[in-house]
Amino acid sequence: MNKKTIKDVNVKGKKCLVRVDFNVPMEDGIITDLTRINGAIPTIKYLSEHGAKVILCSHMGRPKGEFNMKYTLEPVARKLAELLGKNVAFAKDAIGEDSKAKVAVLKDGEILLLENLRFYIGEEKNDKEFCEKLAAHCEIYVNDAFGTAHRAHASTAGIVQYGFVKDAVAGFLIGKELDIIGGAMENAKRPFVAVLGGAKVSDKIGVISNLIEKVDIIIVGGAMAYTFLKAQGEEIGDSRFEADKLDLANELLAKAKSKNVKVLLPVDNMAADKFAADANAKVFEGNIDVGWMGLDIGPKTIKLFSDAIKDAKTVIWNGPMGVFEMEKFATGTKAIAKAMAESNAVTIIGGGDSASAVTQLGYADKMTHISTGGGASLEFMEGLVLPGIDCLNDK
Ligand code: AMP
Repeated sequence: MNKKTIKDVNVKGKKCLVRVDFNVPMEDGIITDLTRINGAIPTIKYLSEHGAKVILCSHMGRPKGEFNMKYTLEPVARKLAELLGKNVAFAKDAIGEDSKAKVAVLKDGEILLLENLRFYIGEEKNDKEFCEKLAAHCEIYVNDAFGTAHRAHASTAGIVQYGFVKDAVAGFLIGKELDIIGGAMENAKRPFVAVLGGAKVSDKIGVISNLIEKVDIIIVGGAMAYTFLKAQGEEIGDSRFEADKLDLANELLAKAKSKNVKVLLPVDNMAADKFAADANAKVFEGNIDVGWMGLDIGPKTIKLFSDAIKDAKTVIWNGPMGVFEMEKFATGTKAIAKAMAESNAVTIIGGGDSASAVTQLGYADKMTHISTGGGASLEFMEGLVLPGIDCLNDK
């Protein structure tokens, strides 16, 4: 990575504003998944142990610019304190009197978490005045929120872009994400296989197009596959597809062919007679009858995809193979997770649904890397500039 990290600056005695991703899932005030908090801990510990005054900030949920205690970060401060075995102070605002007062008394090594940034409309709007107030808390800006690095919000890029903070560096989590995903994109051990699934081709055109330049095999599952199959003249029954993306699907297939990249599409599908968990399900090899919709890949496809994964040296995966939220149609997604867990390849899960599937199935520690950013990792794999990284000081 060509960006400076916290190791490249002297943080001792400095007020460091650290943008973390504490957008954790909560049910009735209880945090149900600690992945994101755990992901930020190495940076927080390093800064605290090196005598920085650590001021953490994050968004949570979509409170749309208003104070809404449903989205308070206070439970996260308590959980973080428990995980660190160290006091974590909490400010009831992000740019108001309470945060100013608490920042002012912060001693070297101490940690403060500010209230949800998205309680302010200026955060997502990247408002200059909001940036200035937020920047007034600190001398050094640290970005460690990979999950929002693809957004140009006040706390993810604006405070540096407007010039309110000069020293801007990456934390360890962002460093790790870039090293692992970037390393695979640039110097993958081959065969390099990309597994793409999920709902829409339109969301993933950029990533498919860029991956064609890098990988040996692209595996396509999920609803996305039906746009490709239909474009190839197959009958897909009532399966979900994008009528306005058929030409594009063929263009992508032609591009892949011209680059000698193999595209594996489903050869059979688990179809349902309605979009429901209790639907009747039936496997179709080849064409799917009208009245049936493909909601998962079929057993032959599972074998085809799993074999390609077995032979790979690098595998990246983004997007489920079917409607994995319904038990009956989760088989394909589970099988891909299992094939990746059992392979000796470098395995990278690109966040989002695939990350939750892998974690729920208990395969998390079998993967080389599970990205903390679904959208961010997709945009990174697409070769796009991420504003939250671009704004940081070059080495
Ligand atoms: P994405 O956000 O693009 O990764 O898409 C994830 C969503 O795609 C999940 O909610 C899946 O239920 C959905 N999905 C995957 N396969 C299918 C399918 N064959 N038909 C309809 N939806 C699907």
